Amino acid sequence: MAMSAVYKITFTALARVALLSLLFGATIGMIWGSTSGGIAGAFIVFLCFWYYAWKLAQLSEWLNDPKAANLPDGFGVWGETLGNLYRLIRLERTAQHALATTLDRFQEAASALPDGAVMLDNQYNIVWCNPNAEAHWSISLGRDRMQTITYLIRYPEFIDYLNTRKFGQPLTLKISQPKTSSSATDVTLSVQLVSFGDEQMLLLSRDISEREQLETMRRDFVANVSHELRTPLTVLLGFLETISAAGNSNPVVIEKSLAHMGSQTLRMERLVNDLLALSRLEDNRNRLTAAPINMPELIAGIALDAQHLSQGHHKIVLESDTGWLVGNRDEISSALSNLVTNAVRYTPAGGQISLRWSTQNGASMFSVSDNGEGIPAEHLPRLTERFYRVDRGRSRASGGTGLGLAIVKHVLLRHGAQLEITSSQHVETHGTEFRIVFPVERTCPSQPSLQIHAASAAG
Ligand code: ADP
Repeated sequence: MAMSAVYKITFTALARVALLSLLFGATIGMIWGSTSGGIAGAFIVFLCFWYYAWKLAQLSEWLNDPKAANLPDGFGVWGETLGNLYRLIRLERTAQHALATTLDRFQEAASALPDGAVMLDNQYNIVWCNPNAEAHWSISLGRDRMQTITYLIRYPEFIDYLNTRKFGQPLTLKISQPKTSSSATDVTLSVQLVSFGDEQMLLLSRDISEREQLETMRRDFVANVSHELRTPLTVLLGFLETISAAGNSNPVVIEKSLAHMGSQTLRMERLVNDLLALSRLEDNRNRLTAAPINMPELIAGIALDAQHLSQGHHKIVLESDTGWLVGNRDEISSALSNLVTNAVRYTPAGGQISLRWSTQNGASMFSVSDNGEGIPAEHLPRLTERFYRVDRGRSRASGGTGLGLAIVKHVLLRHGAQLEITSSQHVETHGTEFRIVFPVERTCPSQPSLQIHAASAAG
């Protein structure tokens, strides 16, 4: 079909050229008076015109599907013209390729942005968006292209933000994730519209859930610390007022008041010490200094302290393998003591507390189990949160700060160890067990050599 078009044009041109050549030959023949000269001249003219008509037809055909590879060739003026055309096409192709590459790069860069970006036209229709924006707004570029954004994002605060057009300040938006996915949690987005080009808009969104969570934690923490300090301070103030009340010189009242004031001061001191310990453990700049710890010896000391604290009200059992741990002695001692102290404080008199240190398959484990009342299952995942208590009154009455297990968690984090908690409130099997599993690389069956000591101290 394609070739027939060329032939058609060529033959039409040929017919005209033949006619022109005949006329030209007849004119030459008449002027020269020679028929053969006229025929020869007409033939040469015919050939020239035919060549031009043929090339023109090829060019016209090529223009229907202009590809550099299919461009016809020629000689003389045609060769030069077609050569120039070929160069022009190559230049245009190179420019097109560069533009496509730049566009691809731009889209790649926009897709890699940590923020969501939706490009909107002047009617707020979606022109393009990156994968983060798809995740933030639960939209899909394939499905929602050219949809009006307000049909898809229907939060009243967002619609107000668009209507008032105060785009200088970002909008904080709480987004409820679809409940279909088990991991779905609500997210907080910081949203801002930026105009560009010809009344186009870029809708930027940033997930600030973590920042918000941290801010909430910080507020809760300050509130908790203030609350923990306010109680002993109120008690102290009360006793001070009693003592300083005019005419109150009763030595019994004064002695009692001083004793109460002393215990409240100790409570505040414990709280401040725990807060300082926690802040040191949480500080990333505070690198862990480690050395080999003789664990049976350390645990025997902790068991003695527990006997002292229990004052004979509990049966304390100790089972211990040999073995060394490469870690920070003060931190490990404080974590283990916290667990053992809790067992003594929360196990009613007459109960049994078992401490166990075992090494197996290279790893090691320390466990404290008691036969106290046990902890309801719903509390277990939150026990290591700061100031989290199962029974607030009981914790305070036994001198707890609510920070013990948070300290344990941070010490273990620094040593690459895991905390496992199991508890039962069953009538026959009630009790709680806290297990610390230390990694193989921190455990040694015998006293580690100096090289290991030095290497771990560096980490
Ligand atoms: P606290 O200073 O209140 O003891 P912790 O962080 O050490 O704070 O412990 C958090 C909570 O975990 C305690 O308030 C207590 O309710 C519970 N708990 C810890 N150990 C035990 C245990 N062995 N038996 C029962 N409850 C425990």
